[in-house]
Amino acid sequence: MVTFEELGLSDQILKVLSELGFEKPTEIQERAIPELMSGDVDMIGLAQTGTGKTAAFGLPLLDRIDPKEKFTQGLILAPTRELGKQIAEQLAIFSKYLERVNVLAVYGGAPIHLQIKDLRRTQHVIIATPGRLIDLIKRKAVHLDQLKFLILDEADEMLNMGFKDELDKILSYTPEDKQTWLFSATMAAPIKKIVRKYMDNPVEVKVNSKNEVNVDIEHQFTTVRQRDKAEALTRFLDIHSGTRGVVFCRTKRDTQNLAEVLVRKNYKADALHGDLSQFQRDRVMKRFKANDINVLIATDVAARGIDVSDLSHVFHYDLPDDNAYYTHRSGRTGRAGKKGISISFLNVSETYRIKRLERELGIRFNKVSIPSTADIAESRLEGWCIDTLQQKTNGRVDEELLEKISLIFGNLSKEELIAKVVVSELEKLDLGGNRDLNDNSPPRRGADRRHGGGRRDYRGGGGGRRFSRGGGRDSRGGGRDSRGGGRDSRDSRDGGRRSSSYNRNRY
Ligand code: ADP
Ligand code: MG
Repeated sequence: MVTFEELGLSDQILKVLSELGFEKPTEIQERAIPELMSGDVDMIGLAQTGTGKTAAFGLPLLDRIDPKEKFTQGLILAPTRELGKQIAEQLAIFSKYLERVNVLAVYGGAPIHLQIKDLRRTQHVIIATPGRLIDLIKRKAVHLDQLKFLILDEADEMLNMGFKDELDKILSYTPEDKQTWLFSATMAAPIKKIVRKYMDNPVEVKVNSKNEVNVDIEHQFTTVRQRDKAEALTRFLDIHSGTRGVVFCRTKRDTQNLAEVLVRKNYKADALHGDLSQFQRDRVMKRFKANDINVLIATDVAARGIDVSDLSHVFHYDLPDDNAYYTHRSGRTGRAGKKGISISFLNVSETYRIKRLERELGIRFNKVSIPSTADIAESRLEGWCIDTLQQKTNGRVDEELLEKISLIFGNLSKEELIAKVVVSELEKLDLGGNRDLNDNSPPRRGADRRHGGGRRDYRGGGGGRRFSRGGGRDSRGGGRDSRGGGRDSRDSRDGGRRSSSYNRNRY
């Protein structure tokens, strides 16, 4: 086993790593750090999210800064302000025992005059988003003419976000003889271009991108009209109790809108996107970890670098443009030997992409139908029955009262009583319309028909079975409350329910 001590890092860095509880380097750290400590190299580091890339470049960078030299020696470019802030926070911790290495993050959306003020004193390392940095260079607040280390973090994301021109511009302000370290999760064509243009015989360190197929993830897709997606999502959430999932959307706006819809329907959901303050972001993550919310709605960028485990589901509310993201997203479930489900919501005209994903990623998809309200009712009522059977009664209800009630129900048969109770339970579920959300219209030209028929898992449609949703006086309000409560109790009881055996005749 390789230790941090063997990588050539200083004692000050080693001390903080042991305080942080970093016991051993991750693979990218183990392979990148000795190279980056050793001398003049350009590097391409390829590794997926969560593999410790920040420390892989951050530790050698900090160790190689000379605090006595009063100019900017290191520049880290990050695609978003969120990522920039995260890097800055990590570097601040890593540099705890290093003498006077000043690190500053600058990004758009914050007052520029404050950043200019901070830049008046030497910042040995600057972390920046591309647009704001150019602004600051033009205002002569940042000088890169003596730069020694340029780091492009999440380079693929930076190019996806259209920062190509900004990168060219920034690079034109930097000296020829600097070292360039590029980190990315993928090696897409535009990155190869950057590498060819700006890097000098780079060392490539590539970790684990052999597309290892995770057998614990079941890949599913369903076809649904755009306008029905939110309701489709709630049906999937309803049918599985104990769901803990991340829903991926394309834009910040989409995440917010969807979170609002879900919260209005009493789901425990919240949005995570790049515009949240660190405080807001931490709060969302804390609530998610504490199971205070069980549905996190996120953009790809915001979800990078967050540490969530124990997900039962990943929902692709929209498919990502880049297939590599599909892997990142779905890789958040099916961890530590547990099974996970990754469900993609597609418009009929997008089904051709499934074939492409299957081919490129070496995985198989199953088509599933959106559960009907009848399916949900059945699944939820089963749970309710079992909860009822397990309910303890001894000493928990006044004998006299019980006798009185028994008298009132006295003439009713058991079947009649059950029917009545079931009907009122169904009303409480408040399942909404029983519309079939499955979009089975024929795919447009070019779309893939292969998966047309293969329904699995869920009975399709709601045909025939309908439960009345009688409009009893307070069935709405009451229903809603009890529905939320039902969700909670089901969440927490689910495990027990499945494993405990019970004997109907006992009751
Ligand atoms: P990436 O940039 O590759 O997505 P990060 O650098 O953000 O990943 O690291 C992900 C998480 O792993 C962070 O919380 C970080 O503190 C932690 N981490 C990094 N390296 C180690 C290590 N060697 N041991 C334990 N935890 C680590
Ligand atoms: Mg990172």
